[in-house]
Amino acid sequence: MNIIKVNSVQREEMIDITREVEYVVGESTVKEGVCVLFTQHTTCGLTINENADPHVKSDMLGFLRGLIPQFYEGFRHSEQNSDAHIKSSLVGSSVTVPFQNGKLFLGRWQAIYLCEFDGARERSVLLKII
Ligand code: ZN
Repeated sequence: MNIIKVNSVQREEMIDITREVEYVVGESTVKEGVCVLFTQHTTCGLTINENADPHVKSDMLGFLRGLIPQFYEGFRHSEQNSDAHIKSSLVGSSVTVPFQNGKLFLGRWQAIYLCEFDGARERSVLLKII
């Protein structure tokens, strides 16, 4: 099991961790398999999406923020981060990517993102090669 540390600097952001994942996969003695990424946090998520136009990230975060505002009179959770918990569950806490000879089988425009919804803070992503 490997752990990738990610430091977010904003309350909400999408951080590209593809290079860090590729480094670990490249160092592995396993030549073909799947790389499972999992985060144990309840207010961030993992996803795969476009790495070319930065507006994709800002549109995704902006749309989620519009759907699920931070402050809503119906929220009862005292930490004032119920929106982050909901976004975390919508995005999901894991992704799986196949690889061969140290190279991830990502599409040309795909990157692996940690989606921060309650930063800034340090996050851990568990990486298991199977
Ligand atoms: Zn909370």
